[in-house]
Amino acid sequence: MQTLNFQAVLDEIDAEIRPQLGAGGTVASYIPALARVAPAQFGIALRTVDDREACAGDARTPFSIQSISKLFTLSLAMQRMGDGLWERIGREPSGSPFNSLVQLETEQGKPRNPFINAGAIALADRLLTLFGASAKSDLLALMCTLASEPVAFDDEVAASEAATGYRNHALANFMKSFGKLDHAVEAVLDLYFHQCAIAMSCVQLARAAGYLCRDGAHPCAPGVKLLTERQTRRVNSLMLTCGTYDAAGEFAFRVGLPCKSGVGGGIVAVVPDRLTLAVWSPALDATGNSLLGMKALELFVAKTGLSVF
Ligand code: GLN
Repeated sequence: MQTLNFQAVLDEIDAEIRPQLGAGGTVASYIPALARVAPAQFGIALRTVDDREACAGDARTPFSIQSISKLFTLSLAMQRMGDGLWERIGREPSGSPFNSLVQLETEQGKPRNPFINAGAIALADRLLTLFGASAKSDLLALMCTLASEPVAFDDEVAASEAATGYRNHALANFMKSFGKLDHAVEAVLDLYFHQCAIAMSCVQLARAAGYLCRDGAHPCAPGVKLLTERQTRRVNSLMLTCGTYDAAGEFAFRVGLPCKSGVGGGIVAVVPDRLTLAVWSPALDATGNSLLGMKALELFVAKTGLSVF
């Protein structure tokens, strides 16, 4: 691996981004607990395949990982179900907002991909079949081993989403009406809202996603394989085409890395065979992606030349 001083690169990015904090974007106001998060925060962290870590800014502050959790639920379902998973979930970009209902009607309740809300709700249903009543705690246990540190649900965020997640209720009920969910809507959404409410820092996320740059090998448990090489390539492909919703084209154009974002303001990016990167800044653009997080990723690629293209 070319010798880059990653700590210096992240410090430079932090210095360039920090003056822009508060200048644009808005926090996700449709989830009341997220609307209270101070927008002027920025963190960045990475972990290389040879276990070097670097971080800058608010990289150790836990935040709500939200849709980044979909990476981990997808990986768990792929690991346990293999190709059977794709009977109920597609793998095409939606070109629509992450919480859109429109395609579900014409496509008979089969979500376009696992990263839009409908797809992640369908995944939660699969996880309930695979793990039963312990699905929530099994997912959290996986996150703790991947991060190599204790991580927890933010119960206030989960309750806040359950109280105001009208669209997610609509999506789940719609899929249920098409016979595409096996479990009760409330049980499926309880798992979905909890996975979104996992609180982690950039340092923990960069570590946890590490299997995506290691051909599926667990980042912190030597010898343990989470996914096969082929499955890992597929998760990365889906991140590139669908991981940032209707901004996936713009991300591929400006950043050129597989990315997965969440409305908590986090984004995880993968440089296959090299490193995983996590950025966080709560203010979002109109597509629900972190405004400064995306800028930071662009800066990282410009400064290091690390990209899949
Ligand atoms: N919990 C959020 C929701 O369901 C997740 C969306 C996101 O992060 N894009 O609306």
